Amino acid sequence: MSEKIAPQYFDVTLSAITDFGNETRQFELSFEPGRTAEFIPGQFAVVICPKDGKVIRRAYSIASSPDRKEALELIVKLVQGGAVTNWFWSLKQGDRFRVQLPFGKFILPNPIDFDIVFVATGTGIAPFRSMIQYFLPRGLQRKVWLLFGTRYADMIPYHSEWLELEKRYPNFCYIPTISRPTAAWKGETGYVQTKIEKFFSDPAGKRIYICGLNEMIQAAQEAALKQGFPKEHISYEKYD
Ligand SMILES: Cc1cc2nc3c(=O)[nH]c(=O)nc-3n(C[C@H](O)[C@H](O)[C@H](O)COP(=O)(O)OP(=O)(O)OC[C@H]3O[C@@H](n4cnc5c(N)ncnc54)[C@H](O)[C@@H]3O)c2cc1C
Repeated sequence: MSEKIAPQYFDVTLSAITDFGNETRQFELSFEPGRTAEFIPGQFAVVICPKDGKVIRRAYSIASSPDRKEALELIVKLVQGGAVTNWFWSLKQGDRFRVQLPFGKFILPNPIDFDIVFVATGTGIAPFRSMIQYFLPRGLQRKVWLLFGTRYADMIPYHSEWLELEKRYPNFCYIPTISRPTAAWKGETGYVQTKIEKFFSDPAGKRIYICGLNEMIQAAQEAALKQGFPKEHISYEKYD
């Protein structure tokens, strides 16, 4: 896997839409027959949205593994008044547009010689899904935690997939935490940053990767520093 891949334009067809609730959807974008895109897990694609004879470009982390050759998966949260997210919500299966990829340096080293703590809220799960789907089947032996925070327990993107991976890979641990739980929820509650203190008070041999909106990243970073994670062992990708 090359460290630097030149970005290219791709014509894609919207081949499937999955609704996760909480105004969050997965969009599957299929390449033209015979074309495939190379990228490193954690990188993002730029979606080219046509608007009034011009274009608007927006970054979206790639949620699928590079092993999925024929299509890309993006997970998008609708933003009130947002130009590109509202355009996404107007699209239907079969619609065509352009994307450019890959971009970004939010990637893991290869080989990986530390335990990994992934921390995400909302669509910040995307780059970690790509990394997890890529590295676990390749026999990664280090411990991997996915600490994921969201409001509602019945709207966790890829929840059953994470549970399945936990069963298959003993080194993978999934910690969902719900900020607006119902009485039926028996798992963790509250914000992700509070779980850093609870589960990762020993930073030895671990590195932490955080993805989502700025407010959460700030809080999670502060929590990690407080637990003794050195700054250079904390990486993040900020969406806003
Ligand atoms: C590297 C990178 C990767 C990203 N990956 C993803 C991803 O995987 N999924 C995803 O949904 N988004 C992702 N984003 C955010 C995405 O690029 C857009 O900014 C977002 O979808 C809003 O675009 P828009 O055109 O609808 O809103 P805009 O028209 O740009 O914004 C409308 C208003 O909403 C505010 N706003 C902008 N973005 C957000 C936001 N995310 N939450 C709340 N308010 C906002 C703006 O300040 C503005 O006032 C990523 C951003 C970066 C930089």
